[in-house]
Amino acid sequence: APEPTGTLLDGLDPDQRAAAAVPGGPLLIIAGPGTGKTRTLTHRIAHLVTERGVPANQCLAITFTRRAAEEMTERLATLVGEQARDLTVATFHALGVRILREHHAKAGLTAEFAIADEQQCEQLRAEHGELYKKHLHEQDLVDFDDLVELPVHLLSADPELVEHYRRRWQWISVDEYQDVDETQYQLLRLLSPAHGNLTAIGDPDQAIYRFRGADVGFFLRFTEDYPAAHRVQLTRNYRSGKHILAAAVQAITPTTLVADRALHPAGSHPEHALIGLHHAVDEQAEAAFVARTIDQLLGGSSFHSLDTGRVDSDGTQGLSFDDFAVLYRTSAQARALTEALTRAGIPVQKRSHDRLTDRSGVRRLLRELDLVGTTGTVRDRVRQAAKAIADIDEDAYTALELLMPLAERCGEDLDQFRTELSLGAEVDTWDPRADRVSLLTLHASKGLEFPVVFLVGCEDGLLPMRWPGEQPEPEQVNEERRLFFVGMTRAQRHLYLSHAAERSRHGATRKAAPSPFLTDVGAEHCERLGEAVPRRRKPKQERLF
Ligand code: ATP
Ligand code: MG
Repeated sequence: APEPTGTLLDGLDPDQRAAAAVPGGPLLIIAGPGTGKTRTLTHRIAHLVTERGVPANQCLAITFTRRAAEEMTERLATLVGEQARDLTVATFHALGVRILREHHAKAGLTAEFAIADEQQCEQLRAEHGELYKKHLHEQDLVDFDDLVELPVHLLSADPELVEHYRRRWQWISVDEYQDVDETQYQLLRLLSPAHGNLTAIGDPDQAIYRFRGADVGFFLRFTEDYPAAHRVQLTRNYRSGKHILAAAVQAITPTTLVADRALHPAGSHPEHALIGLHHAVDEQAEAAFVARTIDQLLGGSSFHSLDTGRVDSDGTQGLSFDDFAVLYRTSAQARALTEALTRAGIPVQKRSHDRLTDRSGVRRLLRELDLVGTTGTVRDRVRQAAKAIADIDEDAYTALELLMPLAERCGEDLDQFRTELSLGAEVDTWDPRADRVSLLTLHASKGLEFPVVFLVGCEDGLLPMRWPGEQPEPEQVNEERRLFFVGMTRAQRHLYLSHAAERSRHGATRKAAPSPFLTDVGAEHCERLGEAVPRRRKPKQERLF
């Protein structure tokens, strides 16, 4: 076949281009981190719409988080312009809401059904045990799981409805397919026929949501489910320096799920710094190391930074706070880091997985919203409601601050405000445009990249995570190793791995050994960093752990 050319595919390498240009039918793109899977998917959709005449409203792209959906929407808007408005880019949950809103009556709900928060669910569960769902739905409420489960029930019972949606979305793509769960898988099976134009993209070695019901088995059997599937591999990594990449591959190799894993540097990377290893006495010292290193990479100027265009001896020019991310296994680790960084004058922002609706201030505010009248902008109504409850719930003030951007976006549509709030407001507190260092859990770091990454707490018992007295199953430990792999591969130019000899957890201070995963990282890719961060030190030749 002639090599497809066209402006939209020009930004891709030959393998990516071949994947993006597959004419139709089931397609599996299996590839490691940083190989441009998400980029290829975005370009494929743009190519289909603008160069192959596929109607934009027939395209559905499913992403793992709402933030990822927003990013993809923005990217598509720059690639295809106006037509981007007709594309559907959504998480599984947002997609489920849409199907439910369109067919609410079939599920016994009104068009205004609401999504219950955790507290409402708990209460109903306590009152009604398993009959819980019946009472929930009778109150015109659904829970988070229902958002995918109910559409699956509706579609399973109604072949005409299945046909309706199959006609509507004839081109479906799913990013991070390795982390779909059983219900999401069923929904996809219903929406896409065996020969349908379904594109699944992912990396089995980055499957990290087993604890939440995800099953990498669905990815691994894609070609059985869709025997006609094209299978494309991408092997060039555009993200990370060669030491970071090689070390990450070493770390995942013992338990890789990809038999023929191939992952090479794309060759154009500007920097190949060694991985910095740091052994700290305790978590405070570890946090201080992070603060100090950020300061040094910024040219020691974070306290009075007038000197922005500076190029230092490492060539680390042009770094700013938002180029840095600190990744950790548990959100409890954020505290020492926030304290140390803030003390050093380094601004931080946390990307958390907590749902906003689990905060007491937000919960009350919603309830209060019903009482403040039914007209006017969401923004004014939220303000009014917050005022009314501020003296009984202090959290309402902070809650209000966090909710304003969303409220403003929703205009006068309170239903949209409620839906968005319960769907994905977990990441709304994180502003991608803010010049701050990101603090985030390894789970939340999926799909992202940062020029400089600190992976802290590389300790046995923390990464891999182990609860006192518990013997973890091997598969659990493998998943922890994949988390370590995901964390390492977020880094573009600099990666630091640190561990502390002592850490307080669950109210007690415990001694900790370095993570066994570190022993798989070859010494040739690392340099040990002590009190001060030395630059350009020669790598030691002995094994480091
Ligand atoms: P992950 O598994 O972590 O989700 P991914 O495979 O989805 O990674 P992307 O995020 O799409 O990878 O791409 C990684 C980085 O490499 C991005 O900054 C992207 O813009 C860049 N990149 C990908 N392909 C190319 C290319 N052909 N030319 C230049 N840069 C590229
Ligand atoms: Mg990706």
